Amino acid sequence: MQYQPIIGLEVHVELATKSKMFCGCPAEHFGVEPNTHTCPVCLGLPGALPVPNRKAVDWTIMLGLALGCKINENSKFDRKNYFYPDLAKGYQISQYDEPLCESGALTIGSGKNSKQITIRRVHLEEDTGKLQHAQVNGEQVSLVDFNRGGVPLVEIVTEPDFRSIEEVDEYLKKLQKIVRYLGISGADMEKGSMRLEPSISISTDGKLPAYRVELKNINSFRFARHALEFEIQRQINILEKGDKPTQQTRGWNEAKGETMLQRDKEEANDYRYFPEPDIPPMRFSREQIINIKNQIPELPDAKSARFQTDFDLTDYTANLLADDPEIAKYFEESVQVVKELKETSDLIKDVANWIVNKRVDVADTVPGQLVKFILKSKQVNQVDENEMDEFIQKLLEENQQLVSDIKNGKTAAIGVLIGKAIKHYPNNKDLVISKLNTKLN
Ligand code: ZN
Ligand code: MN
Repeated sequence: MQYQPIIGLEVHVELATKSKMFCGCPAEHFGVEPNTHTCPVCLGLPGALPVPNRKAVDWTIMLGLALGCKINENSKFDRKNYFYPDLAKGYQISQYDEPLCESGALTIGSGKNSKQITIRRVHLEEDTGKLQHAQVNGEQVSLVDFNRGGVPLVEIVTEPDFRSIEEVDEYLKKLQKIVRYLGISGADMEKGSMRLEPSISISTDGKLPAYRVELKNINSFRFARHALEFEIQRQINILEKGDKPTQQTRGWNEAKGETMLQRDKEEANDYRYFPEPDIPPMRFSREQIINIKNQIPELPDAKSARFQTDFDLTDYTANLLADDPEIAKYFEESVQVVKELKETSDLIKDVANWIVNKRVDVADTVPGQLVKFILKSKQVNQVDENEMDEFIQKLLEENQQLVSDIKNGKTAAIGVLIGKAIKHYPNNKDLVISKLNTKLN
């Protein structure tokens, strides 16, 4: 039997806006004293009315555009009703049938091995509070911190297009890079500002099975791999026994290295979605969308391609430079210095390789210093070979006794000559030794 994993992803990214999604509370919640960033709106007190955060809406559209999505001219918020202690209102303001962005794609792999992952939708919602399980006065209790409640959260949903863990891994890293490039979130999995919920099923006939298992509580790239590996094997084991896996939500327990049943999955209509009555529908003009599009910086793929054409770099080097916006900027500043010095494009390649291979600390070295340093070290290494040949000739003439010792088999004497040669050419040891050896043979 052929077992083919079929994986779709829901990724939640917390936006790094100053204030929360529907109120003026600070959105920062990491390492903040519990329940200090709250107000009647984000605590869901009676009579409090939500006002959408304009920046969060713009940033969601920006991400959608960066992912090649169509931006819906008409969009609205909906209530997703469910009970959980971290959800003060008893519902989450989210988007149901009119998300801000739809039908995008992200390409993973390169060249012949590239593959498009279809993005079904990108929508905006609010985050929930956080439960802390602690011991208070010798009692095991659960505490609720609402600082995170109401923080803007973007959800990016793919079609079930992934066929391997490697594809998932690559997509996540690429998505994280884009989000960071846009400067809309730290997208840090460890801090929870990027969260992942994969849905996994196993196909035995190439078709999409009628069930899927959704995984929760994954907070690092490493855990994502572990959880997917475990879950794929768990479902294959069920199929091997002749049974069928069922639709479930399971949580990943890293300590135990296994996924555990949380609940049998609700269908979407269990949430009784309905339009949020306190927020008017949104409408966007073409101009507004174009204006947001113009704010998108050059993204990593485009940047890498430009580095390859403009500076004749390998895709490996160009990708590494383009990966991190700070490194990319540093490289471009260095290129500027090279141009000002009217140096050759060879030096640009040297600078690129130097940044990538020697892991230059970009916070500590200004580009001008680096370029001059590389230039100098190249000049030191450039040696007049004729001069070196003459030097060796003279060295051998001045030490005829040693030379004849060596020719008579006292090879230890060669060390003395090498010592003298290295002392004269400390920066070109290999070359001078090899020339010396050639002469002596
Ligand atoms: Zn608030
Ligand atoms: Mn969500």
